[in-house]
Amino acid sequence: MQKLAAGNWKMNGLAASLAEIEALATAHPTPGCDILICPPATLLSRVSDAALGTSVQTGAQDCHPKDSGAHTGDISAAMVRDAGGAFVIVGHSERRADHGEDDALVRAKAEAAHDAGLIAIVCVGETLEQREAGRTLEVVGGQVAGSLPDDATAEDTVIAYEPVWAIGTGKVPTTDEIALVHADIRARLTARFGADGEGMRIIYGGSVKASNAAEIFAVPNVDGALVGGASLKAADFGGIVDAL
Ligand code: 13P
Repeated sequence: MQKLAAGNWKMNGLAASLAEIEALATAHPTPGCDILICPPATLLSRVSDAALGTSVQTGAQDCHPKDSGAHTGDISAAMVRDAGGAFVIVGHSERRADHGEDDALVRAKAEAAHDAGLIAIVCVGETLEQREAGRTLEVVGGQVAGSLPDDATAEDTVIAYEPVWAIGTGKVPTTDEIALVHADIRARLTARFGADGEGMRIIYGGSVKASNAAEIFAVPNVDGALVGGASLKAADFGGIVDAL
């Protein structure tokens, strides 16, 4: 399967950041993987325009489960598509924590993404407290079960395993720990979706950098990365793309 290097800019990026898209595309005109940048919604249109005809694809960081209507401040999956996006991240731990999003809502967002023709990147991951209580596989397995639509396919869905304690902290699980969780997710996906579950990409996120990317990508069932801080500069993100 084609691996995926996905950048999540979170609440970072102003017009000046558009230069990073051009630099990234110029450095990787024919990458051996899918390259994705998810800028803030304010920049999606302009980033998509800048990326047109290049190796870089774009997406959003969230969408509303409904198509349109009285939902001040929200954006729909159709709007993401209209702005040039091909992907949308749903259920990121920062949204689960900051906005109280639960599995049912994340699943509804993934369904809305699919209805609009977008690829949904569904995020799962345990907190440090849950890991220390030995509940990692139970928590992640529950999120996978509850957050994925029944008709998810290998083409329209990506799972991002992001341990909450590894995000922005510089702490990364050992490769054995990553392997264990990714293998467990793979087994659950295959049991539920058959061949589509075997083909669904499972990417890792949490303090991925150019210096640790090759080691993480060598882990079985790691099909790419979801990158926060190190996706903001083309030079840093390019090093991760090179490692895939
Ligand atoms: P960092 O790469 O900054 O740890 O963030 C990971 C993340 O949350 C990507 O969605």
